[in-house]
Amino acid sequence: MTLHAEYEPDNIFAKILRGEMPSVNVFEDDVALSFMDVFPQSEGHTLVIPKRVEARNFLDMPTEALGAYMERVQRVARAVEKALQPDGVVVTQFNGAPAGQTVFHLHFHIIPRWKDRSLSGHASGEMAEISYLEEIANKIRPYAG
Ligand code: 5GP
Repeated sequence: MTLHAEYEPDNIFAKILRGEMPSVNVFEDDVALSFMDVFPQSEGHTLVIPKRVEARNFLDMPTEALGAYMERVQRVARAVEKALQPDGVVVTQFNGAPAGQTVFHLHFHIIPRWKDRSLSGHASGEMAEISYLEEIANKIRPYAG
């Protein structure tokens, strides 16, 4: 059962928040941290996670903390759009393993889409080079800050 379970403090994103694992960040404040997905489904695939909450998913998220967090999700989505000029932007989020969730700390995906480019698989394939992710993050950061 992954939809309703205890929050596990050793999930990857909690480790990133504690600085125990590296991440290529594009935005951070006291509410949220945003960083590049290491298995990007498209160029510029970015994640936004809430800080200071132990929420496995959207259903767990304390309602009073949601508004501020969603503002950050929109802020990063707008920054990705300005920086990379895609034809569309997918903003998505999965709850529970059967729904596709693989990391159990709430996060929204921001996935730019181009008319003529296909999407890579979810959380699969080859891990992206850090230098490649840094190059894209450098474009997004000025618009997210
Ligand atoms: P979920 O499957 O839970 O919706 O999304 C988890 C996302 O985290 C996936 O898109 C996957 O590629 C990404 N991911 C998995 N491990 C890491 C990691 O160590 N660092 C980063 N930045 N992303 C990760």
